[in-house]
Amino acid sequence: MTSKKLDSFLDENLNDLKGRGLYNVIDPLESPNGPKIKINGKELINLSSNNYLGLATDEKLKKAAREAVEKYGVGAGAVRTINGTLDIHLELEEKLAQFKYTEAAIAYQSGFNCNMAAISAVMDKNDAILSDELNHASIIDGCRLSKAKIIRFNHSDMDDLRAKAKEATESGLYNKIMVITDGVFSMDGDIAKLPEIVEIAEEFDLITYVDDAHGSGVLGKGAGTVKHFGLSDKIDFQIGTLSKAIGVVGGYVAGKQSLIDWLKVRSRPFLFSTSLTPADIAACIKSIEILMESTELNEKLWENANYLKDGLKKLGFDIGESETPITPCIIGDEVKTQEFSKRLNEEGVYAKSIVFPTVPRGTGRVRNMPSAAHTTDMLDEAIGIYQKVGKEMGLI
Ligand code: PMP
Repeated sequence: MTSKKLDSFLDENLNDLKGRGLYNVIDPLESPNGPKIKINGKELINLSSNNYLGLATDEKLKKAAREAVEKYGVGAGAVRTINGTLDIHLELEEKLAQFKYTEAAIAYQSGFNCNMAAISAVMDKNDAILSDELNHASIIDGCRLSKAKIIRFNHSDMDDLRAKAKEATESGLYNKIMVITDGVFSMDGDIAKLPEIVEIAEEFDLITYVDDAHGSGVLGKGAGTVKHFGLSDKIDFQIGTLSKAIGVVGGYVAGKQSLIDWLKVRSRPFLFSTSLTPADIAACIKSIEILMESTELNEKLWENANYLKDGLKKLGFDIGESETPITPCIIGDEVKTQEFSKRLNEEGVYAKSIVFPTVPRGTGRVRNMPSAAHTTDMLDEAIGIYQKVGKEMGLI
């Protein structure tokens, strides 16, 4: 017999979520996650994917993956430190280091995993971490896992960061202090103030950690937020995902050789979890090669993002203060936001609503993620649908 306690826990909590309309129903795609997708037999313009450059469906990546499957099979067969390190793992790591302008890099199974791995490999209960209040869930969990004292600073508030860095330093309570931030914040599309963060880090000898999941492939002509600010030699940890602009799956840390050497002997997902598959690795290598050879896709992404932003702004929508292709369309009221997203969907645009508690109450938005793969016709069609539904609901 299975646990009655578990049954009542699950029933109570699932019913509670469903009752409050917060139970997330997942719509499976019947197509690749490209600029147009098919859900329940219906074609929709896709403005919800992180496939920023359209590389998730790129023919060159698919060919590289197929060839790797032929050569190496479908699984790495073991964790990296036993005999699951293929020569192409090392090739990927070399490419990542070149891509990020660092001495070395280490690949993980996902960006989430990477944050779980990297923070706890260097920080412990005698340390402190200064963490932006809007950092991603995987950073928060990675910080918790380390058992270091977590000190949150107000979002991108450099006065607050400086004051807290000073207080933590002067308290004499901590061995090491780290400052950790997203490179690009995924809900509003704003960029971390890295030059000021580096200045404060230098003043107080803080370890710097930037998660550039939404900046890689997007800022710095594709090289990421750190390169965008010309700070490649000033950030200790540049971490990122291989699942968004890169188009595949996986995560990485790029930094000094000694840091990567340490992560290879101390970070637990590297030591105890089987690595990326041959197909993933080969596709990631090809993707990074494409990004390093040409800025064409990056330029197209920005062109499309600016086109969509202009179109929505001209219609009278509030698109916030995004500095990146992430384009929120801020509606405010939670119920109205959800209704708006549903109506857009019915008319042919897939753009997800994001409401409290993911964003502050009263700032519900439909978040649009344009990509390099959208055509102008697709964007025009989407803007037309925004106009129709916006007028119909009295939002513009
Ligand atoms: N960090 C940030 C800032 C992210 O936005 C995400 C993805 N939502 C991740 C980490 C996790 O990356 P992955 O999907 O590769 O696990």
